[in-house]
Amino acid sequence: MNAYTHYDLPEPEVAFQALGAAKGIAIGKAYLFQRDKLVVEEGELTDAQIEAELIRLETAIDRSEKELNKIATITEQKVGAVYSQIFTAQIMILRDDALLSVVRKRIAQERKHASVVVSEELSKHQQALLASNDALFRERVDDIQDLKERIIRNLQSGQLVSRIAENSIVVASMLTPADVILFSRQNILGCATEGGGLTSHAALICQSLDIPMVIGLRQITERVQTGQTLIVDGYAGVVILNPTPETISTYERKQKRSTVSATTIEKLATTETRTKCGKRIHVHSNIDFKEEIGGVAKYGSEGVGLYRSENLFLATGKQPSEAEQCDYYLHLAEAIAPKPLVIRLFDIGGDKLLLSSYKEANPNLGWRGARILIDVPEILETQVRAILRANVHGNVKMMIPMIASVEEVQAIQKSVAKVKAELKKQKAIQNDEIEIGAMIEVPSAVVMAEEIARIVDFVSIGTNDLIQYALAVDRNNDIVQNLYNKFHPAIVRMVASVIRAAKKHKRDVSMCGEMASDKLAIPLLLGLGLESFSVVSASVPTFKKIVGCVSLDDARELAKVCLSLSTAAEIEQELRRFKC
Ligand code: PEP
Ligand code: MG
Repeated sequence: MNAYTHYDLPEPEVAFQALGAAKGIAIGKAYLFQRDKLVVEEGELTDAQIEAELIRLETAIDRSEKELNKIATITEQKVGAVYSQIFTAQIMILRDDALLSVVRKRIAQERKHASVVVSEELSKHQQALLASNDALFRERVDDIQDLKERIIRNLQSGQLVSRIAENSIVVASMLTPADVILFSRQNILGCATEGGGLTSHAALICQSLDIPMVIGLRQITERVQTGQTLIVDGYAGVVILNPTPETISTYERKQKRSTVSATTIEKLATTETRTKCGKRIHVHSNIDFKEEIGGVAKYGSEGVGLYRSENLFLATGKQPSEAEQCDYYLHLAEAIAPKPLVIRLFDIGGDKLLLSSYKEANPNLGWRGARILIDVPEILETQVRAILRANVHGNVKMMIPMIASVEEVQAIQKSVAKVKAELKKQKAIQNDEIEIGAMIEVPSAVVMAEEIARIVDFVSIGTNDLIQYALAVDRNNDIVQNLYNKFHPAIVRMVASVIRAAKKHKRDVSMCGEMASDKLAIPLLLGLGLESFSVVSASVPTFKKIVGCVSLDDARELAKVCLSLSTAAEIEQELRRFKC
């Protein structure tokens, strides 16, 4: 079976299965967004027309810059400065002297219309990005497409399509971040697109704005028309066209269950997380950007269990300086002190962010995470220095990604010790006590969990990667997503053995992979003895509610049964049967 299947239910309801890129459920009327086809003007310019064309180009560039500035301001207000940098980066390309002088020169020398030259020059940028083996770079192609269309539209004085009926679900072949931001002003309920990646800017913005999104819906724009009723289920990656009244009621119930009311959130934020039988459980937040730090207090989490520091590379595409890092970490640590902040050392490479232009055949099995940190001491030492200097409140911990062996942990610990000694000598730090943990997300680290646990202060299970490496299923490849299964007995047994190993050495063990917030998985994980979880802040209230109705005796019995089963289907069936 292919990850993308569509099956006709009794007419006229049709369900499409693809990939959920932003959680949540939307029910509403479709708005089919069809980008105006780019029309570039053919023909040779006369001498007199060349001058006029160059003036037309300047006007179009000015208008485009004004539009982008406006979008950047709205973005900053809505989702924060990190996201608005997407648009300031577009302005930088727009104002790039080298690009503009090539465009001007070609208009004059080749007598071509500005639209033709702009389109050709920006397409070259897109080709270069597409040639990258890094998904993040490839996804930036949409940003350049947005810029190209904006300049050409402004050359032809076209109008921006951003006005749509309030509360619509946008269906499009692809959406740029600017589209999402502008549509969000009309309170769109959801998005369904043919293309796009899980880590595309449009998807990240939808996640931040709580707009459910499903991507990878091939040919959806040919099946849906404006005004038709649609359901977008961003949890399951499903879109339903023309749902029957029964389907709508089912999804309305699902929507209600999944959104915890504001009063419940407030109440839960101040309550401790305890099982039905009174066992104290700890829940922390996973964050990617500092704009999310307010969620820790709002949703009642006990701190940050995973800060994905490599996102600092994302905005600029280059290594942040020690001072930039130190400011950023200090801001995070201060905002939540005395609650803990676990900074994961840069997990660059693989499917995330490439450091070199060298093309790896299998990037996820290549130069990634701890391997880069060990091979390029300058990156590791700069980051460690920034972290140690930012630890003025004593609430910062560091965590090593992608550990595959004991030697890797030891190499990084050695570098940390060296940096610590230097800073102490320079009297540059107040606090040299810092806990160092390891992520367990590679199968070899699961096997070596006891030895690793013995030499670190804590471990955290990264199921997102563990599943891909243990099951040999690329986490970003939609063709094999049906095989990416957290309830595979091998995964359940691996998780159990890591918890056992850490407890044997009296080390804290947590889980920061997405499995930790899965409603079906939580009772099982509690039964396996997990007492600490790290999930996105918005999932904390639901997490607390689920934990509150599980009794540990029942959960242990459930875990025992699941550990004896030999298929994912049997395990999932057992978990669905579990009543809490
Ligand atoms: C994981 O692999 O489970 C994890 C939490 O890290 P990331 O998703 O950033 O790889
Ligand atoms: Mg990982």
